Amino acid sequence: MGVKRVKSEEVIQKFRETEALLEGHFVLSSGLHSAVYLQCALVLQHPREAAAFGAGIAERFRGESIQTVASPAIGGLIIGHEVARARGARFIWTERENGQMVLRRGFSVSPGERVLVVEDVVTTGGSTRETIIALQAYGANVIAAASIIDRSSGQADVGVPRIALATLNVASVEPAVCEACKRGEPAVKPGSRKK
Ligand SMILES: [Zn+2]
Repeated sequence: MGVKRVKSEEVIQKFRETEALLEGHFVLSSGLHSAVYLQCALVLQHPREAAAFGAGIAERFRGESIQTVASPAIGGLIIGHEVARARGARFIWTERENGQMVLRRGFSVSPGERVLVVEDVVTTGGSTRETIIALQAYGANVIAAASIIDRSSGQADVGVPRIALATLNVASVEPAVCEACKRGEPAVKPGSRKK
């Protein structure tokens, strides 16, 4: 009651307005080609939008007890923090140490602690899954995972229930089978774009 559910189209619209979502023909950091490029930092640089997305994710877990929100650094830091703020929960993050996702900086979780794992974008779900495994090693009860955007068409399996504020149905493909490449359209690497 009272809290408006954040609509998928509104989320996508905010991404477009801030150029956090570009449409065309792109080379992703993975080397795969896609018709959509996402750079969440460009929308999350606006605290108002970050807070709205955080409240939107928090709302989806209304009625569920969440003691702690945890995110994989760096991508999950801003949105995870905003979800935790909206829920009055603690916020911690995992980061890589010798290639493994771990809790550092004196962070810990207790056995049975109810944790929500939050990331900005789920593509394969790899970072979220690694964070869940790291927390479960402490005995944490990871109740679910969430992201602003799911670009896996809902396919990524992280081993716990998962939600996203918006789901994109766009394929990321090997250059050899890319339709845009076959049409001779040049692929752009947005990160290296000069202005
Ligand atoms: Zn291509």
